[in-house]
Amino acid sequence: MRRRDLLAMPLVAGSASAAAGPIAVDPKSVRLKLKHTWTTTMSSSDYRDTLHLTLHRGGVSAFGEGAPIVRYEETAAEGVEWLKSLTPELEKADWRQFSKLLGQIFERHPKHWAAKSALANALMDWNTKNFGVPVYQYFGLDPKDAPLTTFSIGIDTPEVTRQKTKEADAYPVLKVKVGLDTDEATIEAVRSVTRKPLRVDANEGWKDKDEVVRKINWLEKQGVEFIEQPMPAHMLEDMNYIRKRVHMPIIADEACLHPQDIPKLANYFDGVNIKLDKCGGILEAYRMIQIAKSLGLKTMLGCMISSSAAVTAAAQLSPMVDYADLDGNLLISNDPFQGVTVVKGKLVLPSGPGLGLRKI
Ligand code: MG
Repeated sequence: MRRRDLLAMPLVAGSASAAAGPIAVDPKSVRLKLKHTWTTTMSSSDYRDTLHLTLHRGGVSAFGEGAPIVRYEETAAEGVEWLKSLTPELEKADWRQFSKLLGQIFERHPKHWAAKSALANALMDWNTKNFGVPVYQYFGLDPKDAPLTTFSIGIDTPEVTRQKTKEADAYPVLKVKVGLDTDEATIEAVRSVTRKPLRVDANEGWKDKDEVVRKINWLEKQGVEFIEQPMPAHMLEDMNYIRKRVHMPIIADEACLHPQDIPKLANYFDGVNIKLDKCGGILEAYRMIQIAKSLGLKTMLGCMISSSAAVTAAAQLSPMVDYADLDGNLLISNDPFQGVTVVKGKLVLPSGPGLGLRKI
């Protein structure tokens, strides 16, 4: 081949046809069934509705999922309607300019973060499939660096908590939900079954700073590595009082939604839990991890109860973070996708291009 011909070739296989051909933008709500009734300080339920978005163009199909968060007053039905309202614009847009496109949409629409996450993740899946690389490779990450994921134990009776802890035998680190008036009984039930390291999440459930100090001091004797969001997100000043009196790291979750939240939180927390459903997808989460690291914060990737589509999207960035709590797909019984897997607690990323999802 002559040099002139070589220079005329598209840089990326498929890019010449990537914008052509039939186009489909198809959002829908999917009901995911929980293996156990899931209770936290926020809610209790046997199922969760998440929104699933399929994009198709140029012979390439892509998937994104967002799990609406009750606390932020989002529902899957509203997210689907919002994505449907965007469909004419999305059909006309150049998906290869996904960063510009998402920036424009995010600026115009202040809500619908789970739906934005579904859109951002689907656009990332579509583009990286066209590039022919896994998402982690697009970001220059080594899948071998993916951390262990915790397996979450929701709030329940001591008897059921013991049973759930036994069922979680394959996971070397557990995350235990507390924040109601049963905290000590819950931890004691877990400890009656296992000595493995625990991480504890109070989901804003504790309201009094001296009570929080007492509870954390007690948890420090129970083999707990860190505590997540002990108090309501707005009670920032109490965090300094608490941090002077405890030793374990305190991670912000409900206080940390978007990139701009992180600099302020660096004064009050030791780390942040970043979720694609809070921030609007994989690109925003990447920005947040970089900002948090630059401020010396510990980084954690979390998820909501969702299928492997959303969990795998988050897992693609997991080689960057200190902690992962990416088990939302392990808690449901009707996962429509296969993607990231867990082997002896460690996240194993799929090697295929894009998000690496396979429909079951
Ligand atoms: Mg949390």
